[in-house]
Amino acid sequence: MRQFQISFTTDREFLKDLDGIRKWCGSHPSYQKIFRIYSGDMDLGHIRHVCDILEDEMPDALYLGCTSNANIIDGALAGEGIILSCTVFEHESTQAKILQFPFVEDTVKEDVAALRKRCDENPWVKAVEMHATIMDMSMKEFCDEMSTLPKDIQVFGGGAFNPNMDDDTAAVFSRGNGFSEHGIVFLLLGGSEFHAQSAVIFGWKPIKRKFKVTKADREVLYELDGRPAFEIYQKFLNIEKNDKFFSNTLEFPLFVEHDNVDVLRCPLAVNDDDSLVMSSDMQEGTVVRLAYGDPDTILSSIRHDGQKIADFRPDVIQTFSCAARRAFWGDENISNETLPLCPVAPTSGFYTHGEFLRVDGDMLNFNVTLVLVAMREGEPKPGKPANIYDEQMEHLEKIPISWRFVSFIEASTAELEEINKKLAMASVTDGLTRLYNRAEIERRIRSTLEKRAKAETKGSFSLIMLDIDNFKKVNDVYGHKEGDHVIQALSDVLRSTVGGGDSCYLGRWGGEEFMVLLSKNNAEEASKMAEKIRRNFASVSYETAGCQTVSIGVTQVREGENADSLYSRVDKALYMAKANGKNQVVRLD
Ligand code: GH3
Ligand code: MG
Ligand code: MG
Repeated sequence: MRQFQISFTTDREFLKDLDGIRKWCGSHPSYQKIFRIYSGDMDLGHIRHVCDILEDEMPDALYLGCTSNANIIDGALAGEGIILSCTVFEHESTQAKILQFPFVEDTVKEDVAALRKRCDENPWVKAVEMHATIMDMSMKEFCDEMSTLPKDIQVFGGGAFNPNMDDDTAAVFSRGNGFSEHGIVFLLLGGSEFHAQSAVIFGWKPIKRKFKVTKADREVLYELDGRPAFEIYQKFLNIEKNDKFFSNTLEFPLFVEHDNVDVLRCPLAVNDDDSLVMSSDMQEGTVVRLAYGDPDTILSSIRHDGQKIADFRPDVIQTFSCAARRAFWGDENISNETLPLCPVAPTSGFYTHGEFLRVDGDMLNFNVTLVLVAMREGEPKPGKPANIYDEQMEHLEKIPISWRFVSFIEASTAELEEINKKLAMASVTDGLTRLYNRAEIERRIRSTLEKRAKAETKGSFSLIMLDIDNFKKVNDVYGHKEGDHVIQALSDVLRSTVGGGDSCYLGRWGGEEFMVLLSKNNAEEASKMAEKIRRNFASVSYETAGCQTVSIGVTQVREGENADSLYSRVDKALYMAKANGKNQVVRLD
């Protein structure tokens, strides 16, 4: 497989380029030639002119193509003109076939059925490359249908686009089928010597702040966290509701957490009611986050996945790169993504409106990704695979200031989250003992009561209340500091005896009084636990204060009672333990 890449300038130059290809094929006129034509020039007359020359000069060549946001040739941004990449198959067994259909939601099923039929009729088909106009269409049904193609057929491709991202017009075309502004072109590829391998590069990272989809219907996203969805762009990114909405939001897609693959979804438009029309269906209950491009992540993923493409030792590399990536990097830096592939194989493609790739049998419609497709005829060439051109990555132009700010926001968000976590922790813990403070243990007791009242949890729960015996004396005789040590020692005994777990909570009730909530234990179990605590504490010997003891009250909740009555009973049990001579457990049911 050979590839010739042509950037159309003048008829004369084009004729020369075609002549070069013809000469190369000279002794093998039967070699099949496929031209992929991408055009950022939206004047269909200009594209048709190029196609006419091609048809005259190479009557046996196939061609297909689409309008694009911009083109990629020799691994670099090739502007918004017309480019052609000509793939020549060197093996007789390699075959190609082009199909073109109108593409609207009503005909999706029929189109894919027709494609499936062709695949069935042509068992040589190994891969389907596609170009489609996908504006204003939900891709869900199409992807579902495509997923039913025979499992071993690879599918990849991209959505036709326009250099003006706020303009919906796009077209696909192919030899013998003309142009269509609502069309899809499939290129069936295969044969015993044909091999393909694909990779998808992301590199967009979600900002930490999460939002839940609380209202959505198909691709219309109505609410996030119960607020109109547009607010996420208005409030956080200061994006307005105008005809630039799409190009402004494109660099900040929503990161959607899925079961198996995380995907990015772009808002295409905003409605009057502040709902967003998304690039694909949104499910209620999913969590989304704003995402932004991170150059380091992008480049390291190109190094990683690009090397896998290199190891495949392809003859050619097709790229389908989202126009949002071009907007993000800017024209001076965007080629950094694709130039590293050049030492591997001729690399060409276009900037898309959505990318397609079949992953593990499922047809996926991506946004903001770079899909790479490596193709080869025959076995891999012997020798070491080429290295991804690393040097390129070291030569980034000056890092745009906006990236610095993103990094600043991420670092600040991470710091704030850390501080918030500490503050939240501090607001519920007691400084001396690191146990829950009074307010928190009370809150947990109340919430356990409430859950029980709502019958969310059944069964009993218990409280253990403790008070150190003759503690005033410890303070008086050994000093307040030693008193503190004894209080800390009791909290350690509580931790080690009761343990953490998600049903036991330890709190300092005040002074040298403590409360233990056993949310899943009855009074009998709680009494056993209390007895263990009593014994363990009594066995600790302090350097100056010697051994100390604790009195303990235990009770379990009664049907329908409130927190106050529960506290007063456990307090009474503790009082009885003191009155009976201290250093003991009293249970009151
Ligand atoms: P009883 O056996 O009846 O409980 O006698 P007691 O001496 O322990 O009496 P009480 O529980 O009323 O005494 C509590 C004492 O604990 C009073 C107070 O000075 C002391 N105390 C309260 N908080 C702290 C603290 O954080 N550190 C120290 N060292 N002492 C404290
Ligand atoms: Mg006390
Ligand atoms: Mg006491």
